[in-house]
Amino acid sequence: MITRTLYTIALMCGGELSSAEDKNIEVAGVVTDSRKITPACLFVPLVGDNFDGHHYAAASLAAGAAATLWQRDKGPAPEGGAVILVEDTLAALQKLSSAYLGELAPRVVAVTGSNGKTTTKDMITALLDVQYKVHKTQGNFNNHIGLPLTILSMDSDVEIAVLEMGMSSRGEIALLSGLAVPDVAVITNVGESHLLQLGSRKEIARAKLEIVDGLKRGGLLIYNGDEPLLAEVMAEPGFNPPEGMLRFRFGQSEGNDDYPTGLMSHGGGMTFTSHLHAERAFTLPLPGRHNVINALAALAVARHYGVTDENIETGLAGLKLTGMRIEVIQAANGLTLLNDAYNASPTSMRAAIDVLQSMKCSGRRIAVLGDMLELGPDEVLFHQQTGSYLDPALTDEVYTFGPLAAHIAEAAAERFGAGRIFAFTDKEALITALNTKCGAKDVVLFKASRGMRLEEVLHRLKEYS
Ligand code: ATP
Ligand code: MG
Repeated sequence: MITRTLYTIALMCGGELSSAEDKNIEVAGVVTDSRKITPACLFVPLVGDNFDGHHYAAASLAAGAAATLWQRDKGPAPEGGAVILVEDTLAALQKLSSAYLGELAPRVVAVTGSNGKTTTKDMITALLDVQYKVHKTQGNFNNHIGLPLTILSMDSDVEIAVLEMGMSSRGEIALLSGLAVPDVAVITNVGESHLLQLGSRKEIARAKLEIVDGLKRGGLLIYNGDEPLLAEVMAEPGFNPPEGMLRFRFGQSEGNDDYPTGLMSHGGGMTFTSHLHAERAFTLPLPGRHNVINALAALAVARHYGVTDENIETGLAGLKLTGMRIEVIQAANGLTLLNDAYNASPTSMRAAIDVLQSMKCSGRRIAVLGDMLELGPDEVLFHQQTGSYLDPALTDEVYTFGPLAAHIAEAAAERFGAGRIFAFTDKEALITALNTKCGAKDVVLFKASRGMRLEEVLHRLKEYS
């Protein structure tokens, strides 16, 4: 984590120490949540629509913070501790992080995309970790606040930083990329998440490609070559990559620089070979063809940094993912639960259905699918398309949850026939139905947008508890 004197911190964030006597105070780390004050940290009070961290500045100093930032328009700064005055606490936090990153100067890998950012970030880290000291975004700290905090929590001996960048509107990735100035940028895919805010998939592709705005000269862009919109946007006159930018395409199809040449699923994992690594079969302890594609992006980063195939194999085997991303849970009585309730969009829903439908299973394959939120005017159509995507030969029963997901049920009803599709809007009724119907040997997938909290259903299955 960052350790500097207050004098240096004030310089780095463009602020002014309210008392010169405090200049030699040592700061260790930066905290924005007053409930998580650590000894000698710098407290950064942020201002949101419904909160103002300035109310907690005095308490943070009392709790052990070495100093607090203070926005000048917030009136007199608190007594009882060191204060750095700034115009805008968020801008100061961002400036501090980019100055710190500039001083440490690790290699920077930035990861964006509609789906698979966290997964791919975790994979990249696992592969680089075998040969380098790596720092990665914790959990999902991928926005204009999370990214600076991720950077500021980095130790000075880090060689490569792997940073996730998320967005919900245009300009956000450009800002994050400008802060991090990556050497390598990865775009996992273009889906439909945030379609409501952005209006079209092409606009989403443009938003993802903002990642090249901060890319270093001669930097490497690794992107999903199966997505024609990325190539289209790159051909637009407004696309302005850094000089000498290198490109690498990964994906399913053979036209890409790397693509899978062999694929086998087993248990909860996959074994695959790829065009560029023809000699070696890699094992991924995760289900799903989409995860093999994510792995190809990670392999490209690892190769770029000279990680040997042997170390790639070791790294993949030791992969640990952030929770609730197709977690395979074996319940005591033999029931298998696929927990992908973390979030959902049409693309990731199809990926999860693929996983369910390719699972070896001597019981029934059951899909429990909830509403996908924030999809904009075509939200009904997207749910109907999901219903049409379900294969009655590979999925035995479908349970939907929520008013939008009812359109999944409706679109699948005719092909599935009577007694195999059930639509619920009441969570308790859904829990009761599943507890009656699910049995040993069944495989049950849970997938919905975060707001549906579908994991609550999973946790209430009697076999689970
Ligand atoms: P967020 O925007 O919430 O940060 P993310 O982009 O980090 O999401 P992950 O958390 O890695 O994405 O994965 C979320 C879900 O997306 C996974 O559980 C999986 O269902 C799906 N997913 C992951 N990778 C892909 C992919 N390449 N294509 C389609 N779906 C994917
Ligand atoms: Mg994420």
